[in-house]
Amino acid sequence: MTSAEIRKAFIDFFVKQQHTAVHSSPVVPANDPTLLFTNAGMVQFKETFLGLEQRDYTRATSVQRCIRAGGKHNDLENVGYTARHHTFFEMLGNFSFGDYFKREAIEFAWKFLTEELKLPKEKLWVTVFEEDDEAADIWLKEVGVSDQRFSRCGAKDNFWSMGDTGPCGPCTEIFYDHGAEVAGGPPGSPDEDGDRYIEIWNLVFMQFDRAADGTLTPLPKPSVDTGMGLERLAAVMQGVHNNYDIDLFQALVKKASELTGEKELSNSSLRVISDHIRSCAFTIVDGVLPSNEGRGYVLRRIIRRAIRHGYKLGQTQPFFHQLVPTLVEQMGTAYPELAKEQDNVIRVLKLEEERFAETLENGMKLLEDYIADMDGKIIDGEMAFKLYDTYGFPIDLTADVAREKGLQVDHDGFGKAMEAQRERARSASNFASASQRIEFDGETRFIGYMSDEADVTVQAIFVDG
Ligand code: ATP
Ligand code: MG
Ligand code: MG
Ligand code: MG
Repeated sequence: MTSAEIRKAFIDFFVKQQHTAVHSSPVVPANDPTLLFTNAGMVQFKETFLGLEQRDYTRATSVQRCIRAGGKHNDLENVGYTARHHTFFEMLGNFSFGDYFKREAIEFAWKFLTEELKLPKEKLWVTVFEEDDEAADIWLKEVGVSDQRFSRCGAKDNFWSMGDTGPCGPCTEIFYDHGAEVAGGPPGSPDEDGDRYIEIWNLVFMQFDRAADGTLTPLPKPSVDTGMGLERLAAVMQGVHNNYDIDLFQALVKKASELTGEKELSNSSLRVISDHIRSCAFTIVDGVLPSNEGRGYVLRRIIRRAIRHGYKLGQTQPFFHQLVPTLVEQMGTAYPELAKEQDNVIRVLKLEEERFAETLENGMKLLEDYIADMDGKIIDGEMAFKLYDTYGFPIDLTADVAREKGLQVDHDGFGKAMEAQRERARSASNFASASQRIEFDGETRFIGYMSDEADVTVQAIFVDG
């Protein structure tokens, strides 16, 4: 099954169960300052879960474009290292707003996987929240899942929240067993961190609204929010273990290979580049531009990481933006907004590439020389700061280079160097405004600066002349 066929099969299945199909919302959440990016299908329905917004349906289904590259859900550091994480992915979801609850949610999911997609039951593994006897009984007694492929887990994995505040609740998850050739134990076991059992679907029983102080208030009506990664399901359906081997990604990986000259398609830099073009393109489509703060800085960091991976493969010319047409071929039908914004995305990326190209090479030389001469395993904060300040290397880019070489970066030292520089900048800007005042005011004469030790601001002293 192609990714496009899976999207369609999912939506068709839930529409048949009286769900309303809703198009993906942008990756930038509307009116939600608590959230950097849309990180799940439920985000566009948040107010509905909270009972603040009424819709004319109580069941919905969607394929939501998601970004997990900042905030509570951040997978940036996993990309290129695990078989299953992306900064951008598509989440297939079905939702109940005070309509059905645990039993139907579990039955729908099981039916879709084992009847519609015909996945063998013995390849699936189920987890529930350790305190959720109700969900455990439905799985074991009603659905008839084997207790040999079932575990109870703690809140870390089986209590889902969108962010530090907002809707949340216990969940039950379905994993696919990719077989003994892949290292890793089942969920809940000591070696669960491997990639043998891959989590494909999370069914969240939305029951609470978490306040900033941690208190949980029951939602007006218990609801359901599910999310299944399209790429992970496609890997299962296409008989591959690694998400980057599915149809959607192969076209991008091949194009990245062509653009960088790297022939080995499983090269992790090609995978990183293929991942990053998706998050960067959609972030731009949804109105973000590279900048030095907030969402714009996340975008800039991801673009620069991608460019650095190209550089690692020997590509020193702008190449990243040239992946956009391939991305549009793959995803432009499902996301017409991407196709429409194609030229704009290319323009923004190209400009950012050209800007960074000027300093990337010098910065990389400096860093490589430093690493060649260093003692120990920690790149010092001053160095990381110099790379940031002079060469435009986001700290996570330096850390990414470091990690490839088994090194680390002193983040605290970096923070201190940054703070010291801010302090200098603050003083300088006070100086500037003080100087301007002299020009504007013929009555005053400037005689010097005084440092106020209490709050370290530098003040100008004026005397009437
Ligand atoms: P994992 O434990 O593998 O990091 P998760 O528990 O963080 O996944 P959820 O928050 O439960 O993921 O999201 C629901 C589903 O979305 C997951 O079951 C998975 O199929 C998919 N998913 C989550 N994060 C990613 C990602 N970074 N890339 C691709 N798919 C993802
Ligand atoms: Mg995760
Ligand atoms: Mg998980
Ligand atoms: Mg999960």
